[in-house]
Order: sequence, then C-alpha cells, then structure tokens
Amino acid sequence: MSRPAADADDLYDLYRELILDHARNPRNFGSLGGGTLTADGVNPLCGDRLKLYVDVDAGNRIRAAAFEGSGCAISIASASLLTEAVTGLSVDNAEAVFSAVTNRLTQRHTEQTSMVDVELDGSFDKLQALDGVREFPSRVKCATLAWHALHSALSHEAGAATTE
Ligand code: ZN
Repeated sequence: MSRPAADADDLYDLYRELILDHARNPRNFGSLGGGTLTADGVNPLCGDRLKLYVDVDAGNRIRAAAFEGSGCAISIASASLLTEAVTGLSVDNAEAVFSAVTNRLTQRHTEQTSMVDVELDGSFDKLQALDGVREFPSRVKCATLAWHALHSALSHEAGAATTE
C-alpha cells in the first residue's frame, strides 16, 4: 500500500493543488432549502465557522449536501470535498466515511500507518488530499470541522434541525 517514493512529491503537489482549488472555488457553497438537516461547526482555535446542510431522502440516502461559512483554506477545502464525497451515499456509508476521514486525520503520519490505517474506498481518493494536514497538528481541527458537523447533522436525523 505504500506509494512509490518517486511519485510522492508529485502526489503531494497534486493534493495541494486540489486543496487550493477547493478553497478558492468551493463546491456546493450555499444553503439548501427547508427540511434539510443542518449542523454548525466552530473551530475557535482558527476562527473557522461553517454551517452544513444535508438533504436526506426517504430512503436514507443523501440527495445533496452544501455548506456556507468562512474560515481558512483547509477548512473550506475540507467542507467542499465533503459535500462532493457524501452526495449519493446512504447515511450509514456517510457515517463510515466520517469515521474513516477523522481517524486518518487524527493519526500521526508514520511510515507504518501512512496509507494502511483506514482504507477509503477508491472513489474517495480525493479525500486523501487532506492527509497532508497530519503533518500540522494545529490544522487537523480545521480539516475535521466539516466532518464533525456532518456527523452532528446526521445524528439529528429524527427531525431537530440545528444544534443552536
Ligand atoms: Zn482553520
């Protein structure tokens, strides 16, 4: 599972580009209409604030996800990547991705655990772009903020709209 060393720098550049792209042009930025689940996320350490919207259909599948707010590039990029990754997933699968991403990000980057700690499905390759923040523990909360908001929104599935 280890990446060939020769490609590591290229991959890092690719991921950095992806983060910057999502930070500058966040996908699904805005609000969703009534009936959607919402949760607020605040990261006081950095000043990141966002509100996540999740539209779940009757079959417990995520029809759409969106967010609004302001924060550092990492927090915005992570939220943007999240909205793309979870759209179309079942609630259970979205929760599994939440666990996988937050586990990956909160583990220190070492040779042993780098890519084998938590396997993400191939279709979530883009989320590996967030792995770089593990080198910067102070930024991990920026990257996990939107994911905790997702978890919070999905846990209030029964109907309560917001954590406020
Ligand atoms: Zn931040």
